[in-house]
Amino acid sequence: MSDDFDQWGFDTRAVRAGQHRTNEGENSEPIFATSSYVFKSAAEAAARFSGEKPGNIYSRFTNPTVRAFEERLAALEGGERCVATGSGMAAILSTCLALLKSGDHIVSSRNIFGPTVLLFNNYLGKFGIETSYVSLSDYGAWEKAIRPNTKLLFVETPSNPLTEIADIARLAKLAHAKGCLLVVDNCFCTPALQLPLKLGADVVIHSATKYLDGQGRCIGGAVVGNKELVGEKVYGFMRTCGPSLSPFNAWVFLKGLETLSLRMQAHCANALELARWLEKQKRVQRVYYPGLASHPQHKLAKKQQSGFGGIVAFELKGGKDAAWKLIDSTRVLSITANLGDTKSTITHAATTTHGRLTPEQRAEAGISDGLIRISVGLEDVEDLKKDLMRGLS
Ligand SMILES: *Cc1c(COP(=O)(O)O)cnc(C)c1O
Repeated sequence: MSDDFDQWGFDTRAVRAGQHRTNEGENSEPIFATSSYVFKSAAEAAARFSGEKPGNIYSRFTNPTVRAFEERLAALEGGERCVATGSGMAAILSTCLALLKSGDHIVSSRNIFGPTVLLFNNYLGKFGIETSYVSLSDYGAWEKAIRPNTKLLFVETPSNPLTEIADIARLAKLAHAKGCLLVVDNCFCTPALQLPLKLGADVVIHSATKYLDGQGRCIGGAVVGNKELVGEKVYGFMRTCGPSLSPFNAWVFLKGLETLSLRMQAHCANALELARWLEKQKRVQRVYYPGLASHPQHKLAKKQQSGFGGIVAFELKGGKDAAWKLIDSTRVLSITANLGDTKSTITHAATTTHGRLTPEQRAEAGISDGLIRISVGLEDVEDLKKDLMRGLS
């Protein structure tokens, strides 16, 4: 297809952007299962390697199926470039290693994906890149934490599992006033619900494993941003260091993007219905969902996002015993820590995703022993209610 993406609506881009039909005339994009490419002559090989002539060289960094996924996701996020990676964690690592150096400093929101904290503390820390953590909606704390050597602000919004919302435009302004970049992990919303680059963020991170696939099949990730940061720096890192996405996984995500907005609308509708229903249950102490009027940042969520997402958390009276009992009494929901799947999943955060934290760290993060997270899938919502009712009555 031609690359006048900007003139197309979101759903047209989701279905069409990034397709470059071959001479075979295929309607669905093919999987290019090839590690290298053949040149017509020695001179052509030399011209490709030197960068003088564009074209495929080697699938660590040039594969047409991976490129189709990258172009499609960039068109959806409104970014100039996208680099696909072998996992969401590889996307975060590639971004940090491409954009930072020893002696630099990161300020991050505290409630982020657990392995991201370990990546920052244990691995970047080892090479002299330090990270400070702040409460995501305390803008004074963000500003105070910024040092002369701070280069990057990192935020995940909505947060996991309490669905707190950070004001992306406000953080972007703060970052730029201090000469820093703002990186947003857009995993929970996807571009179907939130466009961080349009709000001023510099880089968007994805775990494609979640909603971009949407059916729990493949691990992958992506980094989206402008030509310089992503097209040159992150791409250069990926080309040399090799945390590349496989063409097969890229193809699965490419197909996932075609139904992204339909799926996200259905996830949002089911999640809102379930959150409202949970709020009425006597054994439920509190429900966390940005679509509820009771959510502290409901107004900001409404302004910043075009939907409230598929993740609902709630606190059960009776602590861990009650939470485990409810989880064990389900027959439809899958007991797994993954999210963003057509299948609804149920997780006890304190003993799984947040189990490696100390009790004090958990208390600080607001993860109580009675807290349950549901990634609301695409089943009939009445069946989900019935499934949860067993443990709630
Ligand atoms: C899962 C996840 C990641 C990591 O992605 P992987 O594909 O598992 O490596 C990063 N951020 C968030 C918010 C996630 O949910």
